[in-house]
Amino acid sequence: MKRKNIAAANWKMNTTVQEGVALMNELCAQDLDKGAQVVVCAPATHLYALSQLSTPEHVAIGGQNIYTKDSGAFTGEISCPMLKSTGATYAVVGHSERRAYFAETDEFLGEKAKAALSHGLTPIFCCGEGLDIRKAGNHVEHVMAQLKASFALLTAEEVAQLVIAYEPIWAIGTGETASPEQAQEMHAAIRNYLKDAYGADTADSISILYGGSVKPANAKEIFGQPDVDGGLVGGASLKADSFSAIVNSF
Ligand code: PEP
Repeated sequence: MKRKNIAAANWKMNTTVQEGVALMNELCAQDLDKGAQVVVCAPATHLYALSQLSTPEHVAIGGQNIYTKDSGAFTGEISCPMLKSTGATYAVVGHSERRAYFAETDEFLGEKAKAALSHGLTPIFCCGEGLDIRKAGNHVEHVMAQLKASFALLTAEEVAQLVIAYEPIWAIGTGETASPEQAQEMHAAIRNYLKDAYGADTADSISILYGGSVKPANAKEIFGQPDVDGGLVGGASLKADSFSAIVNSF
């Protein structure tokens, strides 16, 4: 199966609803490569308003987080059915900021991915190492351990439906980007692990995105690596012209 090229925006905790609507309208007014799946992961407060806009078919919306339970006494949390009801079809799971600031563990993130899939949301499952681990040369082992611990909760059929985002923490929001070779090394290791654990068809069909200071100037070279199927983009997704240039970098 030919895997999708995906350019996913992570707006993080930025923009008001009105600013988000204006940004989405501006983005959709650009000439966006129809061969790429575009996903705008906006704050949950914005999603319903974004879903009501007239947008091209290849532009989807996603949440940045979800909770594992469907409903109940979990004040402040957003369930998968709630997210789905906004019109969102994707959900970021396990962003390094969630792991670091909200103590989300590999096992809990596996549960989140399972919950998302059970409600027809595609998880964009994030993994990645910190600078100390990279400097010690243990980055591949670290990321494999993250994935194995989370995916232990998933069936092979569920794993096959994921999108994976490799995001080295030292490159997120820092302006520092992994070199195309560093990205390719990790993406190939992830794909090899998927092949060994779930078979070649699954490994070949899963889109693996790179995230970490992707911008128009470096997107083409990173996306050109054989195992890089697109990007998860933070800062550069907050301007329609820079994100559209990234979308058009495949
Ligand atoms: C991110 O938020 O996932 C991200 C990669 O951010 P940035 O592009 O700003 O590094």
